Amino acid sequence: MKICFATNNLKKIEEVKAALGEGFEIVSLQAIGCMEELPETGDTLEHNAFQKARYVKEHYGVDCFADDTGLEVDALEGQPGVYSGRYAGEPRSDERNIELLLSNLENTSLRNARFKTVIALLLRDEEYKFEGIAEGEILRERTGNGGFGYDPVFVPKRFDRSFAEMNLAEKNAISHRGKAVSELIAFLSHI
Ligand code: IMP
Repeated sequence: MKICFATNNLKKIEEVKAALGEGFEIVSLQAIGCMEELPETGDTLEHNAFQKARYVKEHYGVDCFADDTGLEVDALEGQPGVYSGRYAGEPRSDERNIELLLSNLENTSLRNARFKTVIALLLRDEEYKFEGIAEGEILRERTGNGGFGYDPVFVPKRFDRSFAEMNLAEKNAISHRGKAVSELIAFLSHI
């Protein structure tokens, strides 16, 4: 089954391909000829995920899914949340986002945070939603070279390594997106 994953983040596509296995052909936005930036103007993860998926379906006529992820930090009252990608402004920079996060948390020992992923699937004229959450803590400094985004400063609950110190399979098994993708796969396997 061929489905477009409405993202240009090749690391995410890799993660999802690894989790999905052989039965599905996952194609990127580039592969369907979609080069423009997708609209993402809502103030919730759900809004943005459906907005991106509907855009691709409308303009390119392919079944697709889109994800939107946010990092909710308790000491920052849920920020950066839906604005995680643009936390330190444009142009988007993982480096500057992490710097700002660490500096905003400098004076607090409250380190609890969670990643949330919403996946919006548009398949044969129906719409479906899947979610995944990973609870954890924000470190005081970066550790590890893998992953992307806030991975070097996020340690998932019950682990003593950051996401950036895990390989793909390890991260997929416990991550927000891994869990949301598992829900998606469970659904796709039964249609
Ligand atoms: P997006 O909605 O997936 O584009 O994610 C928004 C922001 O959250 C981006 O800055 C990403 O770097 C960050 N993010 C998304 N997923 C992850 C992850 O698995 N680890 C670390 N950061 C992530």
